[in-house]
Amino acid sequence: MIRFEEAYHIVIGSIVALDDEHLHFTQSLGRVLAEDVKSDMDMPPFDKSAMDGYACRYQDIRNELCVVEIIQAGTVPQKVVGKDQCSKIMTGAMVPKGADCVIMVEDVIEADSGKIRYTREIPDINLCQIESIDKRRLNICYQAEDIKKGDVVILKGTFIKSQHIATMASVGYTNALVTKKPKVAIIPTGSEIVEPDVVPSVSQIRNSNSSQLIAQLKNMGIDANYYGIAGDTEKETMDFIQKAYLENDLVILTGGVSKGDFDLVPEILQNLHFELLFQEIAVQPGKPTVFGKRENKYCFGLPGNPVSSFVQFELLVKPMLNKWMGINDKPVNLSLTLAKSLSRKHDNRLAFFPVNITDEGEAITIEYHGSAHINGFDKAWGLMFVPIGTKEIKKGEKVHVRQI
Ligand code: AMP
Ligand code: MG
Repeated sequence: MIRFEEAYHIVIGSIVALDDEHLHFTQSLGRVLAEDVKSDMDMPPFDKSAMDGYACRYQDIRNELCVVEIIQAGTVPQKVVGKDQCSKIMTGAMVPKGADCVIMVEDVIEADSGKIRYTREIPDINLCQIESIDKRRLNICYQAEDIKKGDVVILKGTFIKSQHIATMASVGYTNALVTKKPKVAIIPTGSEIVEPDVVPSVSQIRNSNSSQLIAQLKNMGIDANYYGIAGDTEKETMDFIQKAYLENDLVILTGGVSKGDFDLVPEILQNLHFELLFQEIAVQPGKPTVFGKRENKYCFGLPGNPVSSFVQFELLVKPMLNKWMGINDKPVNLSLTLAKSLSRKHDNRLAFFPVNITDEGEAITIEYHGSAHINGFDKAWGLMFVPIGTKEIKKGEKVHVRQI
């Protein structure tokens, strides 16, 4: 039996990066960027009006101003704004030469002469000293104030969300380089398992692991390939794994990895030439977790108990897939204060408990009966880590919690 940290390093260390592929950027949602995205232009590309209003010289705003031009967004101003002049300007339009501020249309009245006058109170300052004026009062978005041409706007290794698609569009990054998605197979094992739409007989239970794992993968942007239930016979389990191995990069099995007479998965994996890099981890739940490799393909044998498979997916499979797809995020563990003391009988494994966050921001354990307690984690905000050698944690002490 190895420690969790060792298992984690074995998994992460054994990964050979996936290849890259090009996609139209609109198809890249949920994929991982394989290069930095740089801007091909300044943003804003020109000094731009932030408001509908009048562009003028700040030093003139106490005076009546003569409107010399109307500037629509998308057009180039034709007139230079001089003393006691202004150009009517729309949001997003280029600020004309000569002007150094835009006064909002709401703050202006038009005089009968056709001239305009600023109606807001003006601070008692020297209006010629524009450098000393809070830039936000000037209502101009300055060229390149957000992004300079050549700046990296999205980093390699970013999991692409909708906001990244907008950035890609704005800098003209239409041919996105992303990592290929791994093909992942799900095979539940167990002669007592039936699919969710079947009413189980007295000795059967429903297969919850597969739907759960498919959903966990979907959250990561991966569409799983589901192979159906393999009964606990050598032939059936072997046939299922062999087929899935040929068609996928990673095979995730559940069940059949403990010490029972019909727990056949580790031996079958070895017979199929997988090198098993570990078969037992000092964790709770999830002790009989198996990880294997054959060439550039991998397999996980997760324990059958639903909480075990859920937790070990979160702790091992997910970081492995992230590394594989080139995601540069690391799992984040928060250090929180424990709201209620906790004790356990044995301290020889790293344990994970479901917790919620109190109104005071502290971690509090919730009702949980162990690895078969299928909805024990449904109401949980996170997983709390109780280290090896710790039998008791007192209220007020710090604990590590990972959001799930
Ligand atoms: P095993 O790891 O095969 O010994 O299974 C451990 C426990 O998990 C047993 O009580 C199984 O019935 C249960 N189990 C196994 N596979 C599943 C599954 N796909 N969905 C829900 N429970 C399962
Ligand atoms: Mg079983």
